[in-house]
Amino acid sequence: MNFPKGQIQVQLIDRGIKQSAVLEAMEKISREDFLPDAMKPFAYEDKALPIGEDQTISQPYIVAYMTEQLDVQPHHKVLEIGTGCGYQTAVLSRLAHKIFSVEIIEKLHRQAQKNLNDLNIKNVELRLGSGTEGWSEKGPFDRIMVTCARKDIPQSLLQQLAVGGKLIAPIGEPVQRLTVWTKKNEDSFDQEVLIPVKFVKFVD
Ligand code: SAH
Repeated sequence: MNFPKGQIQVQLIDRGIKQSAVLEAMEKISREDFLPDAMKPFAYEDKALPIGEDQTISQPYIVAYMTEQLDVQPHHKVLEIGTGCGYQTAVLSRLAHKIFSVEIIEKLHRQAQKNLNDLNIKNVELRLGSGTEGWSEKGPFDRIMVTCARKDIPQSLLQQLAVGGKLIAPIGEPVQRLTVWTKKNEDSFDQEVLIPVKFVKFVD
């Protein structure tokens, strides 16, 4: 089942999500495909849900909002930190050329790989490990999305951003705010602070 149109309207469009490519990706990727059986009946509810290992699948609005703020284009190479079950990864895979995603919990890494394989998604590469150091062999990245919260942003991630690139991450403790960095040149960034959010912790 795709994301019900009525819910796309209420959860996303009515809250200001505008990019048609983002709305289309949200509609085409079935959130239930990324949930454990017990959670599938709640797939299109307007909230984060448990996926085991004390981790969560993000609220659809937040997935759409972060994706839109990142302004992902078809030729982009994207790095994601915090694959979880792979839902956000799958949404990004419809918008960009290639996605690299790092997850620290082995069980979730394996589950995400299975979920993405089952959907025949081919432009994604997953790695098990900590995202603190990014994935330098694959960089630089046009876009970086971090989906676990930290007090500050690891310098290695900012370094792996291409000039002109953007990074979005939940930053702060205990209150987190989505923050966007835009790399102006090798050592200078613009920084913009957006909405408050509640993500699981970035494990160092
Ligand atoms: N992107 C997911 C949200 C996953 S929740 C979605 O689409 O719903 C955040 C994930 O970040 C968890 O799976 C957690 O295990 C992972 N994580 C936490 N610290 C990490 C780190 N240092 N490196 C990589 N992944 C990390």
